[in-house]
Amino acid sequence: MSTIIYDSPIFGPVHSRRLGISLGINLLPKGGKVCSFDCIYCECGLNKERRTKNPLPTADEVVEGLESKLLELKAEGIVPDVLTFAGNGEPTLHPHFPEIVERVQKVRDIYCPSAKMSILSNATQIRRPEIREALLLFDNNILKLDTVCPTYINNVDRPQGHYDVVEQIACMELFKGQCIIQTMLMKGYYEGHDLDNTGEAFVQPYLEALKRIKPRAVMLYTLDRETPVMGLEKATPAAMEAIAARIRELGIEVSVSY
Ligand code: SF4
Repeated sequence: MSTIIYDSPIFGPVHSRRLGISLGINLLPKGGKVCSFDCIYCECGLNKERRTKNPLPTADEVVEGLESKLLELKAEGIVPDVLTFAGNGEPTLHPHFPEIVERVQKVRDIYCPSAKMSILSNATQIRRPEIREALLLFDNNILKLDTVCPTYINNVDRPQGHYDVVEQIACMELFKGQCIIQTMLMKGYYEGHDLDNTGEAFVQPYLEALKRIKPRAVMLYTLDRETPVMGLEKATPAAMEAIAARIRELGIEVSVSY
């Protein structure tokens, strides 16, 4: 098994066909993972295998690291297309997340005003108004919702604290469309649990949730790298496209990666 731990607080840039040149901002510690989920498909590995005593980067370290990387890239004639908050865990867990987002936005406006700001979040902190406010500063506020079935969430995403999917959906509605929902589709078995979330029992209530959330877009994806546990399989392209077609019928833009 090979999992990835990203450098902190800045990593990349990573060149992607879809996003262009993406510079990563990792608010989690060097050499370990901190997350309020413990997804069995996490590319960073399981939480218990990635514990670290290293501290979180400070707000100053993030901002200064970003400025110096942007200057280095500028000297090479490179301008990032996107600054992406992601990395070894959940960015919104950082105690100074709102301050960091505001300061990164100012740095972006000075050094690369054309770059979008994106975040990949598991949405566990969106009950907190200050986190929702900070997330609204992103051009792409990408929130995880793999399913609305609590049993599946407990088996696959494995929340590490309070998590009530009904409350999550209500909080997602508060973004009034200023969010993108990201959903992992897969199949296989783990510890005796069926992991297929592409069947009708999952899809129908998921579509109902999307009708309420009215996200700007939905990103459907499946396993891409090795997973920290065995037994997980990619969702089939046919199953993913069938779900995508039903989301489009709701008038919501969808991208599908398999
Ligand atoms: S939310 Fe993301 S970082 Fe956290 S365990 Fe799941 S995949 Fe990994």
